[in-house]
Formats: sequence, C-alpha cells, structure tokens
Amino acid sequence: LKVSTTRSTGASPLLVSRLFQPSSLREGQGQESQSGEKTCKSQRLMLQAGLIHPSNPGCYYYLPATVRAIEKLVRLIDQEMQGIGGQKLDMPSLCAAELWRRSKRWDLMGRDLFRLKDRHDAEYCLGPTHEEAITELLASQGHLSHKQLPLLLYQVTRKFRDEPRPRFGLLRGREFYMKDMYTFDTSERAAHLTYQNVCQAYTRLFARLGLQCVQVQADTGNIGGKLSHEFQLPAEVGEDRLLVCGNCAFSANVETMEPGQTDCPQCHKGTLTESKGIEVGHTFYLGTKYSHIFNATFSNPQSKPVVAEMGCFGLGVTRILAAAIEVLSTENAIHWPGLLAPYQVCILPPKRGSKEEHLEGLAEELCHSLGSTIPGLRGEVVLDDRTQLTIGRRLKDAGCLGYPYVIVVGRSAAEDLPRFEVRCQQSGETMFLSREGLMDL
Ligand code: ATP
Ligand code: MG
Ligand code: MG
Ligand code: MG
Repeated sequence: LKVSTTRSTGASPLLVSRLFQPSSLREGQGQESQSGEKTCKSQRLMLQAGLIHPSNPGCYYYLPATVRAIEKLVRLIDQEMQGIGGQKLDMPSLCAAELWRRSKRWDLMGRDLFRLKDRHDAEYCLGPTHEEAITELLASQGHLSHKQLPLLLYQVTRKFRDEPRPRFGLLRGREFYMKDMYTFDTSERAAHLTYQNVCQAYTRLFARLGLQCVQVQADTGNIGGKLSHEFQLPAEVGEDRLLVCGNCAFSANVETMEPGQTDCPQCHKGTLTESKGIEVGHTFYLGTKYSHIFNATFSNPQSKPVVAEMGCFGLGVTRILAAAIEVLSTENAIHWPGLLAPYQVCILPPKRGSKEEHLEGLAEELCHSLGSTIPGLRGEVVLDDRTQLTIGRRLKDAGCLGYPYVIVVGRSAAEDLPRFEVRCQQSGETMFLSREGLMDL
C-alpha cells in the first residue's frame, strides 16, 4: 500500500540517462557547420547540448529541453500580453493568395514567400506574418461597436520565410516561432496609447528575462505604416546596425538614416556611435493601411462606420531564446535567463564504486523531496544517474546545458552533519548547505 501511495503522488524522477538530448556537435568542433557556413556561439552551444538538431537549411528539430524553454517563454509572453488586455487566438498557416493580392504583398514579398498550390490549383502561401488574415477576420464581422475597441489579438505560431541567407541556428530560420499581435483602435490617439502599452509590455518582458534591449527607431519595411520601433539586443553577431547618440536618448536603426550621418538629428549636439544588434521585437503603428483595404470598420457613437486604426507587434520567440544564449553564455557553457532554463536543478549522485556510493539513495530521495515540497521546482529537478561517469565529467555536461543549480551529493554529504555541494551558475559560487539550507535556497 505504501509503495502504491508513493507512486501515485510523486512523479518518477527525471533521469538524465533517459532524456533525449542528442548532441549534434562534437566538442571543440570548429567555427563552421557541416555545410561550411559560419556558425555562432548560440548555434554551437545549442547543437552541442542537444537542444536543436539540423534538418533542412533554416529548419531545426527543437529537442525536448528547447521545447520546455519555448513553453516557458510563451507563458511569460502570455502574461505580459494578457496583462494589457491581449486575447490569444491561432490563425491558419495556409494563407490564400487572394488576400495577399488585395494588399499587393503577393508580388511585393517576392521570393521570401513560400508559395504552394492545392489540388484545385488554388494558390496559397505559408504565412510569414498575418496582417491580411487578421484584418479580413475583423472585416468579416461587419461593423464592430466602438465599445469593443481597443481590441488586442495575438498568436504564437510558426512563421515561414524563404530567407535568402538562413543562418546562425535559431537566430535566422526559414521556419520559426513568432508572437504577433494586431491591435484595433477607434482613433489615431487611442492607437498611440495602445502602441505605448505594448512597448511597455515588451520592455517589462525583456527586463524579466534579464536582457538589456534597446528600443530604436526603425524602418517600416514591407509591412508598411507610419511609426515603428525595434527592440534590439546588442551583440556582435547581430545583423542590424544601430546608431545611438552619446548625448540624448536618440537611437535608430541605420536603415532609417542618411548614409554616413554622425551628428544626432534629435539634439544636434551628440555624436552617433554605431553598434550591432539582434532584432528581437518589432512594433508598428499601421494607421489604416490594411483596415482600409479590407474594410475593417467599427461604428462610432453616432452609429457611423469608421475605418479602424491598427498596430502590429512582433516578437521573435525562437530568436529570443537563441539571442539570450548568445549574449549570456560563455564559450563553453550555456547561461539561460533564469526563467527559461529547461530544468532548474540537476542532482549528481556519487560515482559507482566510489567511497560515497552508498549515498545514491540519498540523492534520489533529495530529488523527490525538492520536486515535491518546493512548488516552483515541480518537474524541474533532474537526476544525473549516469553514475558510471565521474562527478567531474557529469559536472562538465551539466555546465554545458546550463542548469541554474547543480547539487553534488558527494563526500561532504557523508559527514555526520551532511552538507550538499551546491553550484549556483549565475553567481559562480559553490556553497555547502544542509538539507534545510537547500530548502531555503
Ligand atoms: P530581420 O530584419 O531580422 O529579417 P524582420 O524585420 O524581417 O527581421 P519582422 O517582420 O519585423 O522581422 O518580424 C518580427 C520578429 O520576428 C522580428 O523582430 C524577429 O525577432 C523575428 N524574426 C523575423 N525573421 C526571423 C527569422 N528568419 N528567424 C527567426 N526570427 C525571425
Ligand atoms: Mg526579414
Ligand atoms: Mg528587420
Ligand atoms: Mg522587423
């Protein structure tokens, strides 16, 4: 009876020997991928740690630990988007050419669009973004009431773009996850307020992730519209060039400026310095560009139909993951934003045949009790049961995957007053803690 109770209450421990995380890169393998293209740190680390596996160019298998991290990131995004009134939906990836012809983007997008035909010869594309689809959805409802606005609708789905140069792992894929939000407002003023609310939510999200992004003025590209900002994460591998004023708050993507400009166009005093960044988010105030074409309207208090003011707001979900690893990690060890680490704790039992071998049961029991008594650690504790390997070897692997905490059950745990060796990745500290100390961590 006792056994069956234990089984039904506690989930079985997550054993490293059973986790599917096949490395696709041998240690020390060079700076080039198999196909000879240049790689970057996050790509190498993610391949090495068994987080991703290459498929077609610009396409990866997201292995289980990555899916856990993506799910955590999506949960944070949901909190922030729903915190400002966002409602989540999910739109088809197969998008009819007819919609894209109406916005003229069927031709404008050129070869970036993945195009296909169905069995009736009807043309489609695989959605690279969804302004057309969402605006058509809104328009199909007839006139919304002004009381229903602002309306903030978002999704987290795969996007497809036939990038001319897919590279750097998840930083530039041809198939990737994006959070895209579309907003509908009654006036330009209201739309600006919504725009600010979304930008603030983005700022909060990046702060929670511990990522120091800069918000820069940006080009509106083929999305169109009147006002636009990018959230850029400073990094050498970044493909965007940013200009930041040394004197005032001005910052912009070079794409928006005259070539060679070094004087700040805002304060006219400071000098602009150039740096590189990874575009992790992009916000647009669209005005009525799409709502006009698709006739997305609402009825104002005088019951007159008025074309809705729109905004659209993208976050590169899988790009954020790789970009965070790119900027936070060392050359050999992944450092995750704490909230995204696939697992929070890894416990290392002693090596088989060592003097401390008898502590293996203690390690297993610790794994159970941390996972069941600390609410935030449910399903977050793994046991590196590969006890045929030395502690040193397993520590190296643990460092590679980047658990925020690694607990070694070794010599000091065999003492009269058992102490556990706890390595905290973020501070780089090693602590020796009693069981009570562990629970308070
Ligand atoms: P880039 O300039 O890097 O090509 P973009 O300006 O074309 O990006 P947007 O249309 O603004 O991208 O899409 C919104 C967000 O989606 C981007 O800010 C970025 O974070 C993410 N994203 C865009 N393209 C990719 C890609 N190929 N792989 C991964 N994420 C991407
Ligand atoms: Mg692009
Ligand atoms: Mg861009
Ligand atoms: Mg962009």
